[in-house]
Amino acid sequence: MIRLNEIFYSIQGEGAFTGTPAVFVRLAGCNLSCRFCDTDYSLKELVSVGEIVDRVNEIGAGCSLVILTGGEPLAQSESLALIEALRKAGRRVHIESNGTIQTPLSDDVWLTISPKERLSKAMAYRANEVKLIVEGRVPLEWVEHFPPQTTIFLQPEGNKHHNVALAMEALKAAPQRFRLSLQTHKFIGVK
Ligand code: SF4
Repeated sequence: MIRLNEIFYSIQGEGAFTGTPAVFVRLAGCNLSCRFCDTDYSLKELVSVGEIVDRVNEIGAGCSLVILTGGEPLAQSESLALIEALRKAGRRVHIESNGTIQTPLSDDVWLTISPKERLSKAMAYRANEVKLIVEGRVPLEWVEHFPPQTTIFLQPEGNKHHNVALAMEALKAAPQRFRLSLQTHKFIGVK
């Protein structure tokens, strides 16, 4: 069974796929306990892989993109089974992960890593995009862990002005390495 927090239909507000309609499946639980974490990833219900696929089909019938987020969506024993079931149902699967749990993902699964306190080297090399959260400082120490061709987004926490200013400074100093990611869904008041 999958430990689930919520399923909702919205848009991807961040990173390379900003503005793309997507069904979000937020899995409950995380293998880290970051002190700044403000995500509600509490357990709301236990559901089967098949039921999640059914709910995704129901809530986002015409939507091809499903984003697994958390918590940590790769921390559950049935995470891979869920990914495969969604792929078999014709969905494009994106994962938003902290990058700590080495997991064999199919090539067509898009992996976004937002590193926190540690990182799997294999997952760092598998990442399609990286999101560094700028909150009072730019965590530049993570940059060297990723291949030079991997896009690194600097994302000001809460779109706050002082975090935006810090991100802009880093972007201008290394324009080939960074791109800016804003939490655009927050501008329009959606999840
Ligand atoms: S890895 Fe992400 S979801 Fe998990 S505790 Fe840290 S900030 Fe929260």
